[in-house]
Amino acid sequence: MSSFGLEPIAFHRAELVQALLEGLPEEARKKYHVGQKVVNIATTETGVVVTCANGTTFTGSMVLGADGVHSQTRKIMHKLSAEDRFSACRNPEPPFSAHYRCLWSNTPRPCAAGLGNNTQGKDRSLMWITGRERAWLLLYEKLPEPTQEPKRYTKEEMDDFAASFADWPVNDDLKVKDIYDSSTAGMSNLDEGVLEHWSLGRIVLAGDACHKFTPNAGLGFTNGIQDVALLCNLLHNATKSSAGPDIGFDELEQIFQEYQSSRKEPTAFDFGVSAAATRSHAWATPIYWFVGRFIYPLYAFQWLLMKYVVAPRMKQSRVLDYVFGEDRIQGRIPWAYPIHTKSKEL
Ligand SMILES: Cc1cc2nc3c(=O)[nH]c(=O)nc-3n(C[C@H](O)[C@H](O)[C@H](O)COP(=O)(O)OP(=O)(O)OC[C@H]3O[C@@H](n4cnc5c(N)ncnc54)[C@H](O)[C@@H]3O)c2cc1C
Repeated sequence: MSSFGLEPIAFHRAELVQALLEGLPEEARKKYHVGQKVVNIATTETGVVVTCANGTTFTGSMVLGADGVHSQTRKIMHKLSAEDRFSACRNPEPPFSAHYRCLWSNTPRPCAAGLGNNTQGKDRSLMWITGRERAWLLLYEKLPEPTQEPKRYTKEEMDDFAASFADWPVNDDLKVKDIYDSSTAGMSNLDEGVLEHWSLGRIVLAGDACHKFTPNAGLGFTNGIQDVALLCNLLHNATKSSAGPDIGFDELEQIFQEYQSSRKEPTAFDFGVSAAATRSHAWATPIYWFVGRFIYPLYAFQWLLMKYVVAPRMKQSRVLDYVFGEDRIQGRIPWAYPIHTKSKEL
């Protein structure tokens, strides 16, 4: 039996998001305004007003900005931090910088499912992951200089970049030129960093908006989910113990501080793991080369890593305390925070 009851499965993130949205009851789905673009947020002692590009406004008691690495919410917070009342929460904007760039593309699976390969070179590396139906190719390269400049890659740049990897093997039988599909390709500089202040007034951030990792270790999305699960639990506890549905300004600020301090160590750790994975795959220094080339591939090393580092951390993953369910996937290691069954009183 595997540690947590399932082997890693590669899937398209958009399909998970779609499944989560479609799995919501009708009443809850009505509360999702997909296709709206947030352009401004006003935050006061008593609430927030969110303005969208089409002029629609929404009022509420707080904003959770999970709007990605180029977060508009974060940019608005940066602007608000020029005011004296928020100056203690000022972050630089842009807050992250990129040392590497990455091209990704996917294709119908051309070989066995459930494989993960890694081809390494000086300042360049390749990852190949096969899911049930599709397979993903990721090509990494160190940038000549670290940069904070946003960069949009054209189709031509992407095709040229893939061509420079044409003869790199993705496994024993296939090369990049056999599987690169330009119609599914995307490319970006890989911003890296963790924000110092995750909240300002009644606004708080989660996911890539406040911590951006390189993707080699596959930890970005999972950390975003952990942010939201913890924050929602804290907010739910606060509304349970207050007279009405609203949470006062001071209490909200305390919740946001508790949220950030609880997430600080896990995100710093996973940020470091991700950065080290990128650099060891791309032989950034002789030590990274040695680790990437000779230590990490050892099964004994991977076993020790899984047993003493990965599993003890992974078992601490949070679930929503107030959502009941049945966890049908059982592994060798019990979760520290299991899903609550209907019969269990909270
Ligand atoms: C090539 C690659 C491979 C990766 N592989 C993995 C992996 O295997 N495992 C893993 O855990 N992570 C992986 N990651 C990282 C993962 O994709 C991110 O960490 C994750 O998508 C971040 O989620 P998010 O919700 O914070 O931001 P995003 O996924 O960027 O979502 C932000 C959302 O906000 C919306 N938005 C933006 N601006 C506005 C606005 N003004 N108004 C309204 N909405 C707005 C966007 O439309 C989008 O829907 C990978 C990343 C890359 C680049």
